[in-house]
Formats: sequence, C-alpha cells, structure tokens
Amino acid sequence: MNNPSSVATAPAPALPATGTEDLNPFHIAQQQFDKACLYIPEIKAGLIEYLKRPDRLITVEFPIETEDGDVRTFVGYRCLHNRVRGPGKGGIRFHPDVSADEVRALASWMTWKCAVVGVPFGGAKGGVVCEPKTLTKKDLRRITRRFVVDLGDAIGPYIDVPAPDVNTNGETMAWIYDTYQMVHAGKNNLPVVTGKPVDLGGSLGRREATARGCLFSAQRALASGLVDGMSSVEGATVVIQGFGNAGSIAAELFAEAGARIIAISDSRAAVMDPSGIDPAAAVAHKQETGSVGGLAGTTPISATELLATQCDILIPAALENQIHGGNVDSIQARFIIEAANGPTTPTADRALFARGIHVLPDILANSGGVTVSYFEWLQNIENEQWDLVEVNGKLERYMTRATDAVLKRQQEINGSLDALTEQRAKRGLPKVELKRADLRTAAYVRAITRVATVALERGIWP
Ligand code: GLU
Repeated sequence: MNNPSSVATAPAPALPATGTEDLNPFHIAQQQFDKACLYIPEIKAGLIEYLKRPDRLITVEFPIETEDGDVRTFVGYRCLHNRVRGPGKGGIRFHPDVSADEVRALASWMTWKCAVVGVPFGGAKGGVVCEPKTLTKKDLRRITRRFVVDLGDAIGPYIDVPAPDVNTNGETMAWIYDTYQMVHAGKNNLPVVTGKPVDLGGSLGRREATARGCLFSAQRALASGLVDGMSSVEGATVVIQGFGNAGSIAAELFAEAGARIIAISDSRAAVMDPSGIDPAAAVAHKQETGSVGGLAGTTPISATELLATQCDILIPAALENQIHGGNVDSIQARFIIEAANGPTTPTADRALFARGIHVLPDILANSGGVTVSYFEWLQNIENEQWDLVEVNGKLERYMTRATDAVLKRQQEINGSLDALTEQRAKRGLPKVELKRADLRTAAYVRAITRVATVALERGIWP
C-alpha cells in the first residue's frame, strides 16, 4: 500500500494543459493524419476520409459489486480503427480520463504504429473509465472479466487482440485470457490477448519490449546522426516522465546503456538527482511506497520543473498532451523519445521542430511493445516459446528497420517538396505551402502509404 507520508512531502503534479489549444486526442490524431496526407498526393480523397475514422467503437456499461459492498457502474470502450493489414491490436487501459475520443485516437495510433514497424495487425484500443488507485485487486478482476464478457466476440485471436496499457499488466491479461477461454472453450485461445505472464503463454521480453524498443530506435537514430553531437545514449542525461511499465524499464535500460537518469516522475511526485538516480532503487521505492516521491538522495521538484529540466534526452512515458503550447518553450531537452502515446501536441510539435529539437514519435518509438506482442501471438499459434535472445534480436531488427525507413522517408520528403507541390497541383489538390516534414509526419507517411496500398490491393468490398 501507499505510504502517505512520503507522498505528502512531494509537490503536486502540474495540472493538465490549458489555453486555447484543442486537446481532444482524436482531433489531434486526425490533425496529424491530415498533415501527413498533404505529402501523399497520390492517395484518393475518399480513402483519406475512410482511414481517418475508426471502423467501430463499442461502448459497454456494466455493474460491479465492489469489495466495499457497493454496486458501481463502469463504462468501457473498445475501438477498432482499422484491420486492413490484419486483426485489430492494442492495449486496454484503466484510467479516469478514458473517453470515447481518447480510445479512438489511441486505436488510430495503433493502426499507424503497426504499419510503421511492420507487424501484420490493424489498430484497436480499449479502456475502462475507473481510478485503479481506489479499487482493490478483486474489483479490478471483476471489472476485467465483466468487460471481456460484454465485449463478446468483438475480441478474438484473429479479430481484435488486446494487450496491456496504462494501469493494466500481465495479471490483467491473464484474467482476460481466462475469461475468454471460459466462454470459448475447446480451441487454442492463447493468442486472444498478449502481454500475458510468461508461464501462461506470454513472451519472454514482452514486459520490457516498449522500453527496449525505445532504446533500439533511439540508438539507431542517434548513430545515424539525427542529433548533432550525440551519437549514442551513452553519457547522455535523461529525464523520464512516468514511472509505469514503459518509464521505469526505460530508466533501467537507458542507465544500463550508459545514460544518467537525472529526474523521474509518476502521477504523484517528481524527483531529481543530477548525479544520477539508480533505477533499481527507484523501482523498489515505488513498489514499497506507491510513488517515486521521497526516494533517498533525490530532491522533490514539480511536474512542470521536471519537463523543463535541462537534459539531453526527455522521455515522456505517461499520458497524452504533456508537452503542449503552454509549456513547450520551457523544454530544454535536445532529443525527445515518446514512450507514451500522444504526449506531444501539434502546437508543441511545430515549436520543437522550429527549434531543431527532434521528436522520435510514439508510432515509431514505442512500437516495440506491439512488436513483441506480435511475437507472442506467433508463439501462441505455434505453441512455441522463443528464448530471450531470439526475441530481443528480432525486436532489434524490427526497430532498426523501421527507424531507418522513417529517417529515410523524412529525407525523401524534404528533398522533394517542389516535386510534391507540383504533383498536388497536377491532381487539382488545394494549394498549400509544403513545409519540411518532421519525423512524426514521415512516420505517418510511411504508415498511411502502407495501409492505403493494402486497402487498394485487397479492393474495397464488395
Ligand atoms: N498498449 C501498447 C501500445 O500502446 C501495446 C499494444 C499491444 O501490444 O498490442 O502500443
């Protein structure tokens, strides 16, 4: 349980972004998509309209008898954005801010992520509106089971395959598998969900995969000369926002690779130690007290100060809209690696790009998670267990290939702005001034082109 005393000494986290910026995540996902489509003049307008929207959004509302004796109703969503390239794939999160539009955005990011990294899945995402901090394990198990039963055949090994996301983990995935198996007995249901515990068909390396993928991608981008004067994470100072699965393991792996973790935060507190935080000690402290606040040898800082800390690498590993128009000018990082989904708003993207601060975008940087989910799905279908060296070796190849492709695509786009402008004119598309594309746009262009190509190859049914 949480230790309230250590939490109470920490400064309160910053409020979410304010101001005039539209922070609806689905609007943001659509803006990113529209921006990328400007650079793909050959894509049909009707196809753009289709790919911009999710195929379906399921909403369920169900009661749970909570352990405190109450009966409470929860709202859950599962959105399938697109499955042109394969079954839907994407996590399930438990969070009070889950909404229909958040799930729509996250599902569409999954479509692009799977296409960027090259795994044969479409995009999906789910969530239940709840505050896990105030619920018991039994409550969460009941919520999970009831949610899965209510989703019925909307999920399935070849339909839509959930995975962990914010506030869900291997244990949650085991409950999902067990519930699905109860109502679909008689066949191999292991591939219905990924991120399972290893002794229940989970893949070795899946728990670390998001963070490890971030490291592989970052190392490759840096070795390619993306950031002047930084050819590797070795010796780099790193700030990590969010200390869940992605953030805490990123701290460990980046430190192992020679980086110095100088500040970390979670939803309750942020702490700093310029001489370097020991990630293992931070993980142990968080396990014991529920927060990184009060970690020995660190100074408490505010969430705002954390993001504004001067560092080489900033890793947002929490939620959407953390770097926005209201705080982007305070960012003093040289390189941003998005372990979270949607942490940077379009306004912030523009400002960072103008300042020459590269952002390794979520749909590339954090695609290691779904990549090893794909490996898990394959192992489940084959009834195999790959060893860790094989999993990590394959992950490295996927991340390296995707990173190279996105870097190359950015160069191609930026080297052909005039030609693209001409093609747009020839096709009678509206006149726009095509600016140099950032890495997010390049990643989107790669993803949209791949999905659109397959959609046309398959033909629009009927
Ligand atoms: N929730 C993770 C993500 O956002 C993993 C999805 C998966 O493995 O299917 O990428």
